[in-house]
Amino acid sequence: MTEWDQVLQATDGAVAASEDDELLVVTSATGPVLAIELAQEWFGEDDDRSALRLVVDGIDRGVLRRTAAYALVGSSDRGTLGAGDHATLPGHSVEYVVLRLHCPHEGCQVSGLALSYDPDDPPTCSVHHVALLVAA
Ligand SMILES: [Zn+2]
Repeated sequence: MTEWDQVLQATDGAVAASEDDELLVVTSATGPVLAIELAQEWFGEDDDRSALRLVVDGIDRGVLRRTAAYALVGSSDRGTLGAGDHATLPGHSVEYVVLRLHCPHEGCQVSGLALSYDPDDPPTCSVHHVALLVAA
C-alpha cells in the first residue's frame, strides 16, 4: 500500500517555486493512492510534462518528477479507495471532481489541479502569494 510517507520521500523539496509550476493540490484525507493516480494521469496526458509540485494540506511538499510518480504504486493498488470495481478502467477514476487552477497574475504560468478546494483557504501561487482561481 502506498503511504504518504512514500510519496513525500519521492518528492524533491529543493526545487524553488517558479512561474511555470504545475501544482497538484490535495489534502492528506484524499489519500496517497488517489493523488498518485491523478499525478500519473496528468503526466500521461502530455509527454512534455516532467514535474508536478505537490501541495498537501496547503503545504508545498516539493516537486514530484515523472519518473518518481510512475515509480510509486498507483492504479495497481486501490486499497485505500474503498471501491474495488475499477479494475476494468485503469487510470480513470471518475468519482472525484478535479478542478483546474491558475494564477491571476498577468503572465504567470502557474497552474494546477485540485482534488480538494476550500474557497475560504484556497491554494496560492507560490511565486505571487495570491489565491489561485478556478478555471471556468
Ligand atoms: Zn503566480
